[in-house]
Amino acid sequence: MMGKEVDEMGFFKDLAAVFNKREMTFIDSFKESENIYSFLFEKDPDLHWEPGQYGLISITHKPIKNATKPFSLASAPAENVVRITTRIGDQPSEFKQALLELKPGMKIKMSGAIGSFSLKNNNPTLLIAGGIGITPFRSMLKQHAASGNGENKQIHLLYTDSKKSYLFKDELDALADRSVADVTYLDSRENLEKEIESFIARYKDNGTFFVAGPKSLVASVSAFLQGKKISKQKLKKDAFRGY
Ligand SMILES: Cc1cc2nc3c(=O)[nH]c(=O)nc-3n(C[C@H](O)[C@H](O)[C@H](O)COP(=O)(O)OP(=O)(O)OC[C@H]3O[C@@H](n4cnc5c(N)ncnc54)[C@H](O)[C@@H]3O)c2cc1C
Repeated sequence: MMGKEVDEMGFFKDLAAVFNKREMTFIDSFKESENIYSFLFEKDPDLHWEPGQYGLISITHKPIKNATKPFSLASAPAENVVRITTRIGDQPSEFKQALLELKPGMKIKMSGAIGSFSLKNNNPTLLIAGGIGITPFRSMLKQHAASGNGENKQIHLLYTDSKKSYLFKDELDALADRSVADVTYLDSRENLEKEIESFIARYKDNGTFFVAGPKSLVASVSAFLQGKKISKQKLKKDAFRGY
């Protein structure tokens, strides 16, 4: 099938999924690191997602402004739980305050999962995460490990964080030990670009690229890739607002 037809099919699938709003029961939350929290929800048996996709999460236990926001599903379908992981600073938005107020058994709503940010082919793949942008990649790599075909695909993860506060580091290291992916931790722009260049040099035109994180990082990495003649079709982006 042609790329455009696949995109159009994806669009209609997404549209249908957006209207399919479901209640989800909150199970628990925990602090991952300073200012980063994960929230776990029960997964309905009929909820399906492709690792890397996101849900539109709505707060329903009280009226707030901007009650619906997109969040990558950080869990793999194989984990049988819905997990979102987010940064909550000293002055949280109303939405994030409401997340912190959730008690086990309370409900939120989610529509989706939606988006085309998922591994679709067997090409060598470069995943580029900036900070909190690691969330969709956790799902992809966990699912990849669970489906047992870790060694058949070349996946490289470049994870950059200026504060070297690498979320999910123990899990990512364990996945790297099992050869699910090569994982490189970075803390500077310069080294990130060097690593991207070495991937491009190694795989020439065969590579597929994913970049996720704060909007500014996604924009600058995309511009860098386009400068290296990587076509738009080979690049998928998840730009997180509010960071
Ligand atoms: C495809 C996609 C996937 C995404 N996945 C994730 C994900 O996995 N994890 C994630 O964290 N985000 C993700 N995002 C971004 C997410 O949707 C939010 O935009 C982001 O988390 C910021 O939310 P916020 O409520 O803090 O933002 P905003 O309301 O935009 O607030 C931004 C900042 O403004 C300040 N602020 C806002 N309201 C107040 C207030 N009432 N009082 C004081 N200060 C205030 C706070 O400092 C806050 O941090 C994703 C976005 C997209 C498009």
